[in-house]
Amino acid sequence: MMRAVRQTRARVDLGALARNFAAIQALVRGDDTVAPPRVMPVVKANAYGHGAARVARALEAAGAPMLAVADIEEGVTLRDAGVTVPILVFGALSISDVAGVFAHRLTPTVSSPWAARALAEAAAAGGERLACHLKIDTGMHRLGFRHDNLARTLPPILSSPHLHVEAIYTHFATADDHEHPLFEQQRTRFDAARATAQRLGLGRAAVHAANSAALLRDTRAWFDYVRPGLLLYGVVPPPVATTLALEPVLSLQSRVVAVKQIRSNESVGYGARYVADGPRTIAVIPAGYADGLDTRLGGRGHVLLRGRRAPIVGSVCMDMLTVDVTGLDVEPGDEAVFIGTQGDERIDAREMAAAIGTIPWEILCRIGTRIERVYA
Ligand SMILES: *Cc1c(COP(=O)(O)O)cnc(C)c1O
Repeated sequence: MMRAVRQTRARVDLGALARNFAAIQALVRGDDTVAPPRVMPVVKANAYGHGAARVARALEAAGAPMLAVADIEEGVTLRDAGVTVPILVFGALSISDVAGVFAHRLTPTVSSPWAARALAEAAAAGGERLACHLKIDTGMHRLGFRHDNLARTLPPILSSPHLHVEAIYTHFATADDHEHPLFEQQRTRFDAARATAQRLGLGRAAVHAANSAALLRDTRAWFDYVRPGLLLYGVVPPPVATTLALEPVLSLQSRVVAVKQIRSNESVGYGARYVADGPRTIAVIPAGYADGLDTRLGGRGHVLLRGRRAPIVGSVCMDMLTVDVTGLDVEPGDEAVFIGTQGDERIDAREMAAAIGTIPWEILCRIGTRIERVYA
C-alpha cells in the first residue's frame, strides 16, 4: 500500500549539520594541537526537533567524542539507534532511572547527594565503578552542588570507590547577555570550585561549561569540552552575532492547498479576527498549531511563496493557516516555506521567534511529531 505523505515537512540537512560541527570544532581548536577543546553536541529534546536518532548518528560519524541529552529516556533512544559514543545525561535522576544508567551505559550527572548515593549503591550492587560528571551550581540555581558548600558535599562522592568523577561542569545563565554581571561571577566561582574540588581529592577530571552563547563569547569558558546545542543546528543565539560560517540545518515547508478571493470587509478564520480592507487573495496552507506553528504567528508571521514574503492573516488553526497572497499569482500546489529560503528570501528560526516574542530554541523544539523529517 502506498503511504500517505503530508505536504508539510521538515527537511533536515545532515551535511549542513556535519559542516556546522566541523566549523565549531575548528573554532575551538584554533592552533592548539596539544589538548584542544572538543565539541560535545547537545541532542536533547529530539535533537532540538531535528530527530535525535539520525542527528546523533550523523554527529557520531562526524567525530563527536560524546553526546549530551536531557534524561535517561533520551539516552536510551540513542542507544537503540546504535549510538556507541559516551552519552552524558544532564538531568536529575529519579529512582526509576538508576537502573537505566547501567543497562544502557549512560554517563549520569551527579547533581545532588541523593543521586550520588543512589548511583554509588547501584554501582556497588553490580560490582561496578560508574563514570559520572559532577555538576556545580555557580549561580543558575537549578541543578548542581552549590559552589560555596563543596567542602561539605563533595568528600563522600570523591571518596566513593564506586563513583569515578570523570568530569566537572557548570552551566551559564546569562551567556547571551553581555550586560549582565552573572556570567563573570559564574566563571570566577567555577574556577574556585574546581580548585576546591582538587583540594578535596578530585583527580584528573575533564572540565566543561560552555553552551552556544558562552563558547562564542569567551575562550576562557572552553576548557576540555564545549557543549553547543542551538549553534550546531545553524542558529545563533539572539542577540549574539558571529562570523562563524553556519548553515541552518532544518527547513520547514508545505504546499498551498487552496486559493480564494475575498471581498472588502469579509473576514478570514476563527474569531473573524482578520477583516480585509479591500479585495484580497487568500492561500490556505495545511499546517497549524498542532504542527507547532504558534498561534501568535497570526497577524505577525510570514510565509515565503513565489519567492516573496506573504503575511499570515487570521488565526492559525489546528491543522491549517491562511496567508494573504494578493498580487502574487499563487496556485494550489505552490511551495510555501515557513523556515528556510525561497528565491532570494529567507526566514530563519530566529526571525520567527522574534516575530512572536519567543526564543528560537522553542521554535525548533515545538515542531510537531506529526511533521515528517526528511533527511538529506
Ligand atoms: C541545553 C544545554 C546546552 C546547550 O545549550 P545551547 O544554548 O542550545 O547551546 C548546554 N549545556 C546544558 C547543561 C544544557 O542544558
